Amino acid sequence: MKETREFQTESKELLNLMINSIYTNREIFLRELISNASDAIDKYKYLALTSKGKLPSKDYEIRLINDEKARTLTIIDNGIGMSKEELINNLGTIAKSGSKDFIKKFKEAQEQKDINIIGPFGVGFYSAFMVAEKIEVRTKSVDSEACLFTSSGQDSYTIEDCDKEESGTEIKLYLKKTSKKKAEESEDFDRFLRSYELEHLVKKYSDYIRYPIKMKVKTSKPKLDKDGKEIEGKYEDVIEDKVLNSMIPLWRKNKKDVSDEELADFYRNKFADYEEPLFSVFLKVDGLINYDALLYVPSHAPYNLYSDNYEKGLQLYSKGIFIQEKCADLIPDYLKFVKGLVDSDTFNLNISRELLQKSPALKKIADNIEKKIVDRLKDCKKEDYDKYLKFWEIFGEHIKFGIYSSYGVKKELLKDLLVFRSLLNEDKYISLKDYQEKMPKDQKAIYFASGETIEGIKLLPQIEKYKKEGKDVLLLDKRIDEFCLLMMRDYEKLEFKSITAENQDDLSKADQERLDFLNKEHQDFLNTLKEGLGDLVDQVSFSLNLVEAPVCIATKEGLSLGMEKTLNEQPGAFEKVKASKVLKINPDHELCQALLKFETDKETLKNYASLLYEEAMLLEGFEIKNRQEFVKKLNDLMLKSLNK
Ligand code: ADP
Ligand code: MG
Repeated sequence: MKETREFQTESKELLNLMINSIYTNREIFLRELISNASDAIDKYKYLALTSKGKLPSKDYEIRLINDEKARTLTIIDNGIGMSKEELINNLGTIAKSGSKDFIKKFKEAQEQKDINIIGPFGVGFYSAFMVAEKIEVRTKSVDSEACLFTSSGQDSYTIEDCDKEESGTEIKLYLKKTSKKKAEESEDFDRFLRSYELEHLVKKYSDYIRYPIKMKVKTSKPKLDKDGKEIEGKYEDVIEDKVLNSMIPLWRKNKKDVSDEELADFYRNKFADYEEPLFSVFLKVDGLINYDALLYVPSHAPYNLYSDNYEKGLQLYSKGIFIQEKCADLIPDYLKFVKGLVDSDTFNLNISRELLQKSPALKKIADNIEKKIVDRLKDCKKEDYDKYLKFWEIFGEHIKFGIYSSYGVKKELLKDLLVFRSLLNEDKYISLKDYQEKMPKDQKAIYFASGETIEGIKLLPQIEKYKKEGKDVLLLDKRIDEFCLLMMRDYEKLEFKSITAENQDDLSKADQERLDFLNKEHQDFLNTLKEGLGDLVDQVSFSLNLVEAPVCIATKEGLSLGMEKTLNEQPGAFEKVKASKVLKINPDHELCQALLKFETDKETLKNYASLLYEEAMLLEGFEIKNRQEFVKKLNDLMLKSLNK
């Protein structure tokens, strides 16, 4: 029975893009179909190897058949095949998670007339519609009847039963007509019928496919006589199978035989990215545990990196045979954006997920991989700082998360990857080492200030003093920053000190004495202000750390204001945490001196206390809590001064 079905909406959209766009790189369709065929054989082979003899192993192959008369090109595999349901699910809808992302990029690229961006993108099965006006897919899975899918890439496709003995898939492309004007390569579809052209494309894109890609080719051979001896000078055309690819997986080749370009191409192809990776790391480890690994840091965050359904992990192979798509234990959480694969002969094909997880060998490999990636980043930081900063802008927070989430255990490994914006280095990022080397000899701590934005932090009242004294301050505008530094505690024995924390005053002895005196002398004054503020602050006291500003908010050891905010905004933060706040007053400010004249007038002082508090909070980058009261008091003040 023949059924007609509609493509899913997104599929239609993608098909439309494929069919109608002027595409310069149509030839990649072959790579896509061959890679699907190879995946299908991988899956079959794995099933067969783990079926305890129930499923026979086969002579696995991918075959190309080019029929110049019928103008068809057929790609055949003897892999796992598809059932009817799978056909509908896999080809009638967008299977690949990246495809939606691709549609978006594709449209943007077209608007900007930049079609190059799409060249290397893996677009899967549908890319075949760039070269074919009709496609037939005959397929049979291991345990169901054979099925035929036919489509011309319009809105619908048909599905019907068909004959096919062996499991696997045959994809027949009815190539588009080459226009009379021809000439332009992108419109020349005949070339996909020519043997040497196909051979060239396989070499170019699919050389490392681990199954033989075979095609019948015509070669000229010396003619043989009756005894099987060559007749000199006489040749004849013979048609015979030729294996077009070298079949060595890229990662099993010698390092020196693999170029950076090949590594990058492999990445784009395998991990369906349209951009080159930022870093490629090729490891070949011979030791107690042997393994090869290809590791990549993408040049942009995977589009779903921050969604719950993002799965980290590396592909796992054993002796070149695929075992697992995403082995999560091979990569720590903080490097979850790393893509790649590991091939080791240590693992048994039948190994269960549980055993694999517990395997000490896996742990060793994972540790080593982590170290190699970090080393690579360190090297880059030394050799190509701009490139490193590009990495940092995209993934820097993950590195900080690595320190934080390990409770500081990874501090030694990661500390020299950290870079920060800073007060004296305006627009540049500096490392902690830079900070340490450039700071005055008598400085005993690394200072930092945090806030929502760099501009906002620079407005903090407490920062003026540091600017004046030429002491640098790290400017932390990411929420994870303070938590990361908290876990680190120190860098090379230098403590981290928040400039907005209480007791930061590294004051001279004389100043310290003066401060003690002031706090004692005006105790009533301070107490009255505290009374006026109630629970808003834990304490009111003087500070000699302010230059221009009359007041600021400091926090006592532990939580900072930023951390308080972050923690209370966490989903599931039921009990609100509270930073312990101190309202700090600048005794040398005119305003303070004016207030001191009202030391005994409790009502007036109490009345102004909240204005001082709100002002300080505003400068720390927070919103005014009680707006109505604030506005009323401000208006009263204006009236008073205007009516004077
Ligand atoms: P992707 O390979 O990224 O999943 P494709 O569009 O290339 O996306 O393929 C869609 C799906 O169709 C595949 O995931 C696979 O399940 C199925 N498929 C495609 N080609 C074959 C094939 N030759 N044999 C078996 N299944 C296939
Ligand atoms: Mg594919």
